[in-house]
Amino acid sequence: MVLMTALLLASCGGKAEGAEGDQSQRMRFVTIGTGGLTGVYYPAGGAISRTVNKKQSEYNLKATVEFTGGSVFNINAVMSGDLEFGIAQSDRQFQAMEGMAEWEGNPQDKLRAVCALHPESVTLIAAADAGIDSIEDLKGKRVNIGDPGSGNRGNAIDALSNAGLDWESDIQAEQVKAVESAKLLQDGRIDAYFYTVGHPNGSVKEATAGKRKVKIVPITDVDELIRTYPFYAKSVIPASLYPTAENDGDVVTYGVKATLVTSADVPEDIVYTITKEVFENLEDFKGLHPSFAVLTKENMLEGNSAPYHAGAMKYFKEAGLISE
Ligand code: GLU
Repeated sequence: MVLMTALLLASCGGKAEGAEGDQSQRMRFVTIGTGGLTGVYYPAGGAISRTVNKKQSEYNLKATVEFTGGSVFNINAVMSGDLEFGIAQSDRQFQAMEGMAEWEGNPQDKLRAVCALHPESVTLIAAADAGIDSIEDLKGKRVNIGDPGSGNRGNAIDALSNAGLDWESDIQAEQVKAVESAKLLQDGRIDAYFYTVGHPNGSVKEATAGKRKVKIVPITDVDELIRTYPFYAKSVIPASLYPTAENDGDVVTYGVKATLVTSADVPEDIVYTITKEVFENLEDFKGLHPSFAVLTKENMLEGNSAPYHAGAMKYFKEAGLISE
């Protein structure tokens, strides 16, 4: 009896090990850096990995996602090889490529674009009791602009300076991750927060679902800002997405696009496979998050400034989306 059990265990163990051993030799793993749990990058990364992983055994490729601080963190992690893919704002892709902002004097030559994803709006969320009707009203207020790994921190700084406010001296700036913002607002520890994000998202839902009444504040007078930074474009946040927000109508602001980036060092066939699966299954992919509804194969090729990765380019040419 003891012997039989031992034999059984040994054979089972042997078998399992063998199978695992074979698989790990062939299976390739890639990780996509996303954002916080209540943003759109996280479900966007989930949608990409779900789409690709459906054919896991065919391609021997498995994608997983990681929570991160956002765009700046993701670009840096992709450049250092810690992550194979990352989601990053189009303005951040441009700045990293050109050696601007966080990458001043240090252009990221190996940064490669895969495609653009959903539009993101520079969103200002404020407590209704804080007397904030415009960005100028942020003077002296406690505002979370986002952590240094985020893309939104730079947008918040630009938006404030466009309104004549210095983020270091005119407001009481917090620099914590966006995922904390809704709770900080509800707990009365901040008056407002900036988040550059697709809509609808969990953060604004969480912020507008609490006891403290919350509204989305329009950001206007951005013509000059858009002229200076061509990666910005005007946008509108539909009020209907957040029925419990204290807003009478749609909110005007401006924004960027989320994009998928990688490194020139990531193998061509991996990037090709991911690009192809997302593009060929676009209708299903769009169903995975409401902010993807506006995506088309054509607009997914707009907003990228880094060169396309060779694997993405191969697919775009094959599909006739980019001519030879
Ligand atoms: N745009 C934000 C950032 O780069 C992240 C938004 C999200 O997670 O959806 O920091």
